[in-house]
Amino acid sequence: MDIPLEVLRSDASGGRRARLHLPHQTVETPVFMPVGTQGTVKAVPQDTLEALGAEIILGNTYHLYLRPGHEAIRRMGGLHRFISWPRAMLTDSGGFQVFSLNELRKVSDEGVRFRSHLDGSSHFFTPEHSIDVQIALGADICMAFDECTEYPADRRRAEESLRLTMAWARRSLQHFRAHRRQVPWLDEFGGRTQRLFGIVQGGMYPDLRRQCAEQLVAMDFDGYAIGGLSVGEPRELTLEIIAATLPLLPKDKPRYVMGVGYPDEIEQYARMGVDMMDCVLPTRAARHGLLFTGEGRLNIKNRQYAEDQNPPDPRCDCPVCRRYSRAYLRHLMQSSEALSGTLNTIHNLAFYLGIMRRVRAELEAGS
Ligand SMILES: [Zn+2]
Repeated sequence: MDIPLEVLRSDASGGRRARLHLPHQTVETPVFMPVGTQGTVKAVPQDTLEALGAEIILGNTYHLYLRPGHEAIRRMGGLHRFISWPRAMLTDSGGFQVFSLNELRKVSDEGVRFRSHLDGSSHFFTPEHSIDVQIALGADICMAFDECTEYPADRRRAEESLRLTMAWARRSLQHFRAHRRQVPWLDEFGGRTQRLFGIVQGGMYPDLRRQCAEQLVAMDFDGYAIGGLSVGEPRELTLEIIAATLPLLPKDKPRYVMGVGYPDEIEQYARMGVDMMDCVLPTRAARHGLLFTGEGRLNIKNRQYAEDQNPPDPRCDCPVCRRYSRAYLRHLMQSSEALSGTLNTIHNLAFYLGIMRRVRAELEAGS
C-alpha cells in the first residue's frame, strides 16, 4: 500500500511541509479544512471555495445520514458528485454529533442508540455502521468511530471512555479494510483508495493519551487525529496535550488536530508539525459578524463602522476586501441580508487559508 503523505521538508521544531495524495486531490499541507456540515460550507458556493484555494472540506456523517440519507447519496454517485465538489473530502464518524446533540442517547459496547434531532426517530450507530455510511458517501478520508470524552472528566470516566474508543477503533479498521473497495467511482483515480484515520482520545491525561496513541499506531491506520480537544479546556492544556501527543505519532503519516482553533492557534500547531486542522470558528463567527483580520478581531456590527469606507481587512486581498467596505458589510448585517453571511464567511475563510499558505511557504523556505 502506498504512503499517501510525501514530506517535502521538516524543520527542527517539528513543523513540516508535505503533500497528501488523496483520490480527488493532492492536498498541500499544513492545511486548514473548512467545515461543510450538511454538504455545504454554510453560505459559500463550491466554485468560490475552489477560487479561495480550499483543497479539502469536511462533511458530516450524522447529518448526511439523517438527511438526505447515505443510500440516496450513494445512488447519486457519492457526496462529491451530489454536491459538485471535485476536490478532497473528509467525513467525521458521526460520533461527536451523536454525543453532543443527543440527550437521549444510550451507549453500550455495541454502539450508540440515539434519537434524530429532526424528527425524534430512533437510530442505532455502531462503528461498522459509521464506516458503511462514510464509504457510501465516498469520502477521501474516513474517521474511526470514537467517543469524544467530555471536559472535565475524572480519571475513571476517561479510562472507561478510552476503553470504548479503542474497541471501536479496532472494529472500524476491520470493517473498513473489508469494505472500502466497494466504491466504484473511486477507481478512476489511479488506484488511490479511501483512507481511514484513527483518533487519539484519553481526556486531559497524558498517560492515557500515550496509551491510546501507541495502541492505534500498532493497528496501522493511514493517519492519526488528536480528538477530544476544544471541548472547554483552557488553551494551555490544549497545547500541552498536542505537544505531548505529536511525538508519539509516526512521522510518515498525516497528523490531524480536530476542531481547532483561533488564527494564532492554527499557525502555532502547524509549526509544531500538525498537518491538518478543521474548525467551525471562521464560518460560524462570520455569520455572527465577527471578522478575523491581520489587525485582530473586528465586530462588524459595531456602530463605529457605520460609515467606514475601508475594506474589512486592508491587508487582505480576498474578493470581499477588494470590493466592499466595512460600512456595507455592517449594513448587510444590520438588515439581516443573506449576502451578509456569504461575504463575511468568504473573508474569514480567505484569512484562515491565507495563514496556512504563508506557513507552508515559510516551512518550505526553511524560515
Ligand atoms: Zn478579506
